[in-house]
This record gives sequence, C-alpha cells and structure tokens, in this order.
Amino acid sequence: MPNRRRVLRAAAACVAVPFASACHQILGPSGYDANWQVFDRGRFTFYARPSSFAAQSIDPLSIVLDDQYNATTVMLAVQYAAHVSMYLYADPKDGDFAGNFSGVAYPDTLTVRATCLPPLDANLMSLLSHEMNHLITRNTLGQSGTAFMTEGIASAVITERYHSNGRHFYYPWTASHLSQLPPIASLLDDDFWNRTSSQVAYNTSASFLAWLIDTRGPAPLKQVFTVRSPEAVERIQSAYGQPVTELESAWKAFCLAYKGA
Ligand SMILES: [Zn+2]
Repeated sequence: MPNRRRVLRAAAACVAVPFASACHQILGPSGYDANWQVFDRGRFTFYARPSSFAAQSIDPLSIVLDDQYNATTVMLAVQYAAHVSMYLYADPKDGDFAGNFSGVAYPDTLTVRATCLPPLDANLMSLLSHEMNHLITRNTLGQSGTAFMTEGIASAVITERYHSNGRHFYYPWTASHLSQLPPIASLLDDDFWNRTSSQVAYNTSASFLAWLIDTRGPAPLKQVFTVRSPEAVERIQSAYGQPVTELESAWKAFCLAYKGA
C-alpha cells in the first residue's frame, strides 16, 4: 500500500520540531521575504509563491481547511473564531524544512508555515489540517501538558469529508500494528515519547484520542489535556473513571473490529 506509506511520513511531519514545542514557544515566524502572492479566503489568508502549485490550489485547499476548522470546533465542542494565516512553501528548501511533508504552527500569531507540494491529495490536506488544528487546540484547550496530547489531538480531530486520512487510516493502522505499540501510559511520558519512532508515537496518540473523543466525547479529554507527564495516567483514570490500561484494551478491541463504517 504505497499510498498508506506516504501517509505515515506525512503524519510524522511535525517531528522536525521535537515535541513540536516550537508550535507553542515561538511567538511567530519572522524574516519573511516579500515574494508572496496573497489570497484572502474567508477566515484564511494564504501566502503562496507566485505561480506555484500552492498558488494554483488555494480554492480547493481553502474549502478543505474551512471544513476542517468547523469540524475541529464541533468535535471539541468549542467556540472559536480566528483568522488564520497560512504560508505555503514551494518545496522544503524554500521554507527551510526537513522533508516534503513538513509544517510548523504558531498558535500565538495564528500562523502556519508548511510545505505545499503536488499532488493535491490526502497527504497534503491532512498535513495542513494537522498544523491548523494545533492553532485551534492550543487556543481553546490550553497548553497541552504532553507531546502525546499535543500531537495526538492535532490528528485525532482530522475530518474526512474530502479525504480518508483520519479515522479510516488510524484505526486500521492500529489494528495492523498492535504488536509494535508501546503502552499508552509509556507514551504519555515525554521522555519515552521522544525515544519512540515518530510514526508510532504520532499514529498511536491520534488513534487513541480519536477513539476517546468518539466514545466519551470531548469533556473528559478537556480535563486531562493540560496535565503533565507525571500525573497524566492518574488524571486520565479519574476523568474517565477507568484505568488507562482498560481504556487501552477497549480501544484496541474497537480497532480490531473496525470495518470503516
Ligand atoms: Zn504537529
């Protein structure tokens, strides 16, 4: 499944910035050059290199991201109206990125910088959605306490109206990688997370949090979103009324039985 393999790489895009901490600690990008074509589309302002693939793809991308923005606020049951700036780079070198699917989100300035290479497919849509979701989650749920929450939530709320790189990817991926998955309790420890394969860490956290949202709603997740690693396991148990290990077993069983409905 070559397409799925590309998806894995796309999902790990943020890893170029360890813990994606840059998403939260850098006040904003600086030093932009002037060579941008500017497109205002509703709540978005897009910046693309003149005549680039990105510049030619603004309308479909704006439709996908607008839908994603709405879906994220609905899934998390939050009210949030913000104007988002998206800088779409023609290639990794152009934006000083490590790979073809890379991005950084700056919640304080509501800005995303990301690569935007053809084709206009699920990988590109989910990359930009993931980065935009960092802006919304940080500004509505607060500063996440663990890398697990930071990265997991940004993909867990990816909606699939225009592609299938959300639950239709994460749940089957979980079922087919059960033997490789570290315990959730371990991944909630940032030190462990940083030593884990980024693909495994990102996909596992996204899958588990998507399932938690689907089955328990967003309320308990909001109670544990900002909790730091040492208390995370205990606080999840108290918010959900079940030990993490029990939730984990139920999630795995769900993924194994998932038929993509
Ligand atoms: Zn990220």
